[in-house]
Amino acid sequence: MMDKEQTFIESINKLKGTGVRITPQRKAVLEYLIETEEHPTADDIFKALSHEHKNMSVATVYNNLKLFKDTGLVTELTYGDSSSRFDFRTNPHYHIICTECGTITDFEYPALEEVEHLAGLLTGYEVNGHRLELYGRCPNCQK
Ligand SMILES: [Zn+2]
Ligand SMILES: [Zn+2]
Repeated sequence: MMDKEQTFIESINKLKGTGVRITPQRKAVLEYLIETEEHPTADDIFKALSHEHKNMSVATVYNNLKLFKDTGLVTELTYGDSSSRFDFRTNPHYHIICTECGTITDFEYPALEEVEHLAGLLTGYEVNGHRLELYGRCPNCQK
């Protein structure tokens, strides 16, 4: 796993490469996404950063998230009618979601990539992705 500071520098360089300006707010949102182990909503990010960045608004956070998403730095997770959550990790991984408290935890299961190959063979589709979510009760909610 890459070191977080390295990830931050590489992400900033990637953004610079697309010609966007690196504002302090932009840096802060990016840093927050890299640091957190959670899958925050735009509102979570705003709440965490607004006390330090007085001129930050929810719109600023949204604009940055959209930009990061377009640059391929974050993935947006949509769950029905609740607000989108954002995930900095772009390497293939799966989510298990607690049905009681809504916590989302990452896990990897590379063997599952084979299912794409198999599905392609069985159906003749040119497969370009899959989505898998698991549900359960997190360790905290089992206490
Ligand atoms: Zn839970
Ligand atoms: Zn994730």
